Amino acid sequence: MRTNVFISGGGIGGLTLGLKLAQCGIDVTVAERLPGPSPIYKGELLQPKSLEILDSLDVIESVFENGHKISDLELTELKNVKAEPEHSVMTYSILPSDYPFSLMIHHETLKGILLNKAKGYPSFHYHPQTVCKEIHDHRVTLENRKKKETFEIECDFIIGAEGRNSVTRDYMGVSVKEKKYNHHFLTVTFPRPEKMVKGKIISTYQSFLGLFPLPDNEVRSVYLIPAGEYKSLRKKPISEFHKLYKKMCPDLEGFVDQIKDWKQIQLMVPLKYHSDTYVKDHLAIIGDAVHTVHPMAGEGMNMAIQDGDVLGELLCDMHKKDKLDPSNLEWYPKVRRKRVSHQMHLSHLSALVYSYPYRPIGWLRGRSLQRMEKDTVSHYKQMLNISGLGLWRETLYDRMIQGGILPMRNGTITGEEKDNTTFTQTQDYPWKETEALQ
Ligand SMILES: Cc1cc2nc3c(=O)[nH]c(=O)nc-3n(C[C@H](O)[C@H](O)[C@H](O)COP(=O)(O)OP(=O)(O)OC[C@H]3O[C@@H](n4cnc5c(N)ncnc54)[C@H](O)[C@@H]3O)c2cc1C
Repeated sequence: MRTNVFISGGGIGGLTLGLKLAQCGIDVTVAERLPGPSPIYKGELLQPKSLEILDSLDVIESVFENGHKISDLELTELKNVKAEPEHSVMTYSILPSDYPFSLMIHHETLKGILLNKAKGYPSFHYHPQTVCKEIHDHRVTLENRKKKETFEIECDFIIGAEGRNSVTRDYMGVSVKEKKYNHHFLTVTFPRPEKMVKGKIISTYQSFLGLFPLPDNEVRSVYLIPAGEYKSLRKKPISEFHKLYKKMCPDLEGFVDQIKDWKQIQLMVPLKYHSDTYVKDHLAIIGDAVHTVHPMAGEGMNMAIQDGDVLGELLCDMHKKDKLDPSNLEWYPKVRRKRVSHQMHLSHLSALVYSYPYRPIGWLRGRSLQRMEKDTVSHYKQMLNISGLGLWRETLYDRMIQGGILPMRNGTITGEEKDNTTFTQTQDYPWKETEALQ
């Protein structure tokens, strides 16, 4: 068998790339280990940049039909019983995009939308229940687990999109150094009150609950626990879990109680790593194969989509111009590495802010968030940077404002500031402007 581009792994990253390549007529083969949808929870929040990409892939209507839009994130810091809670609201609506909001969608639904669309293109080939076992130069050995058959594919390019355990990354000889955190998360979806339509983060100095509405009146929840506490928690009756949630959000009375068994609740262990190498010869890695991010800022699957978009556009141009020298692949990390590093840094900071169960840290967090909401530049920078639409680095000056050392700014963000900090087509795909492809 022969194909132009072989993709190992049909997760969000592999399918985004596969669809994009199929749309420009490249012969692409995706092998996916699993037979069908997985019950394991993975990311569900789409950021504005990913929505723009899904629009360019002509699937945005289906995404809207199956998703729940979130414009505002409400952040509530609960104090003791006597003090009023502190609220702040961070909004996507200030962003310069046709999609100034995020969107919650079931992970497997999104994969289904991408896969169904891709299957409509004759140059797209999909092998479910098929594991990439071995890579040797331009040859890949695959095993179809259902038929218990092994076969080989010859290809020009090999893309590793296998997530955290990547055969392609191993073949490239690349290792990653994992950073673990002092906390884990419990995560579960359950019915929500109809009026709960905004994203909510509720915290005390020692606990954290994130609530992200899904369609069909469901809500995805994430609850922070100290690392290692899961086993002892699971020994308690499920009503103890309900109590933890209702203490943070009384509106969940009658809703969270519909979870009847600990088995419905998944443990999520946050990790972080960023590979030094994205590309080697005719091989490249995307998504979780190359970077894994703490889930606090909801970036994981967005980074996979954005990798797939940039690498896909590059491979399409290489094929269109018949410039197939593998050294062209280096354009992909040139665009992605800096953006990924910054988003990982933001996610890491958000994680640290909620990680330490001390009253002064809770107090500082509440105050900083309120000032971040009210300081126009800080608010804009935070939303722009998590949206994926652009990059505007935070400075010491911003941090001093957020910390209450300097006064807040209340002017508007100028058109020029917006233009200078939002990614342009040229920044997304810089090779197009030059005759640089080999
Ligand atoms: C438990 C968990 C919870 C998460 N929660 C969040 C969250 O709350 N927010 C967020 O933004 N992100 C979250 N993430 C991260 C997010 O899901 C990932 O960043 C995103 O799915 C990455 O997409 P991907 O396509 O790179 O990898 P994956 O989604 O991991 O897809 C890789 C695919 O490759 C397949 N595969 C693996 N090895 C092989 C092989 N040898 N041959 C063939 N196929 C193979 C796998 O079966 C899988 O389908 C979470 C991840 C995990 C694991």
